[in-house]
Amino acid sequence: MTRVQRLSTLLLKTLRDDPADAETASHRLLVRAGYVRRTAAGVWTWLPLGKRLLDNVARVVREEMDAIGGQEVLLPALLPREPYEASGRWKDYGDLLFRLRDRKGAEYLLGPTHEEIFTLTVKDQCTSYKDLPVILYQVQNKYRDEARPRSGVLRGREFLMKDAYSFDVTDEGLAESYRLHREAYVRIFERLGLDHRIVSAVSGAMGGSASEEFLAPAAAGEDTFADCPRCAYAANTEAVTAAVEPPAQAVHPAPCELDTPATPTIETLAAHLDVPASAILKNVLVRIDGEIAAVGVPGDREVDLGRLAAHLAPAEVELVTADDFAGRPELVRGYVGPQGLDVPYYADPRVAPGTAWITGANKPDTHVRDVVCGRDFTVDRYVDVVVVEPGDPCPACGAGLELGRAIEVGHIFRLGRKYADAFGLDVLGPEGRPVRVTMGSYGIGVSRAVAALAEQTHDERGLCWPREVAPADVHVVAAGKGGEVLELALDVAALLADAGVRVLVDDRGGVSAGVKFADAELMGVPTLLIVGRGAARGRVELRDRRSGAGEELTVEEAVARLT
Ligand code: ATP
Ligand code: MG
Ligand code: MG
Ligand code: MG
Repeated sequence: MTRVQRLSTLLLKTLRDDPADAETASHRLLVRAGYVRRTAAGVWTWLPLGKRLLDNVARVVREEMDAIGGQEVLLPALLPREPYEASGRWKDYGDLLFRLRDRKGAEYLLGPTHEEIFTLTVKDQCTSYKDLPVILYQVQNKYRDEARPRSGVLRGREFLMKDAYSFDVTDEGLAESYRLHREAYVRIFERLGLDHRIVSAVSGAMGGSASEEFLAPAAAGEDTFADCPRCAYAANTEAVTAAVEPPAQAVHPAPCELDTPATPTIETLAAHLDVPASAILKNVLVRIDGEIAAVGVPGDREVDLGRLAAHLAPAEVELVTADDFAGRPELVRGYVGPQGLDVPYYADPRVAPGTAWITGANKPDTHVRDVVCGRDFTVDRYVDVVVVEPGDPCPACGAGLELGRAIEVGHIFRLGRKYADAFGLDVLGPEGRPVRVTMGSYGIGVSRAVAALAEQTHDERGLCWPREVAPADVHVVAAGKGGEVLELALDVAALLADAGVRVLVDDRGGVSAGVKFADAELMGVPTLLIVGRGAARGRVELRDRRSGAGEELTVEEAVARLT
């Protein structure tokens, strides 16, 4: 039997006005509806009804993970430095890591993702090929000191993630574990009611051969993805650019054709290219020694930048942020000279006439400061910048690609043996010889999924939750002053709760019916049950939150309808 949740006693304060710093609908509405409160930049408190949203997403995730044989564990979030040192990520993660010291001076970090510790856990627990395959997962807060925590819980510095890891002895085993996760993810997002696309992606700092992202289309998203209207091809624009072959050898360019300061500004560049400054932007793909490192893409690429910085030392590298480019879908295509980012650049003869080439500089002194090609580094790598434009040919079938904005809600990786190698994770094989284990890792942003759903499903009146995630099934509004209204509202709520329906009842005294309606619409429970003027005749109104369609029914009819 479920319990009726009375608004009169609930820790809930809705707000009339948008929070001043809110840029996106999910941020605005989750705060206004009283689901979350900001505690620090990118750090959020989930209030009772918000906690239900989070729990509902986590429940669906757990059910589907369990269904593929996943075993839930809980690893610490407070982690020792050594394993991350061994994997190289203590350094690679750069500023993204929250680092701390204990009283004895030992170094720790707050886990941004847990490949290392899971690898060690399996090394400790599994000795034979018979112990594998195994899928382990947890639902846990992760910590990343994001360069720009933004959009409320969409990009937190503390956020709830489901992270899963598979361990297999053979490549075929890994392929199967990967397939199981991919299918589980499809079921999860379908159940959550989240519109999503699966796109091939660049694995970046996580390493490994192949990865796919689950993107939830939404204007507030920080990712741009290419979508083929004809075939099944869909890709993060990073991956599309990656499909463009870099030159086999670094091109040693002719001297700089443009007399610019060492760090040209967007304006200098635009003037030179005779294009509006707004045409110069974003997704900069950098390839270093065959590895792809993305720079200048929205979000946190400190890892890649850190690696880049190491190559360019003593250069200083900074990030071009999403905000610098927000709302500018225009396209730039071309190449940056191989000498690096914002240092003087070159016209590349391989770039078709009429296309622009860019550096990624958006303001003076960003990215790379005081670096001179030939003095500080030599050209042994190619920097490759291509941004996909609507209508560009699909790499699979040639049809014109469409571009969209989306939120990354999940990411699945075939890691291979990178971490097993780092930690010597072997099991005894069937022939009695040690076999190196191969791994996959699979993440879902649980807290981000709540925000992504809010982005996709809200309307001008507020939030509009899919039933699986909603904090309740029915929001009973006692709309009227009379004692009989309140009494009937509580009675109906109790009847529904007895039948297993999750019910909120707005029994607040001294709050007008108008305010109650506005709050109900803001909060977004899928069905409203309004007890008002008809109460004396035992009649109530059932109203669908999304469509607004209402119907007057007797209490019995309404309860029958909802149970
Ligand atoms: P992004 O590109 O948005 O920074 P990511 O690629 O760094 O995300 P992963 O390392 O792939 O993230 O982590 C797995 C999942 O965790 C992501 O797909 C996303 O849903 C979620 N996630 C990552 N960073 C955040 C964050 N700062 N706040 C909320 N959720 C996050
Ligand atoms: Mg990130
Ligand atoms: Mg990403
Ligand atoms: Mg990712």
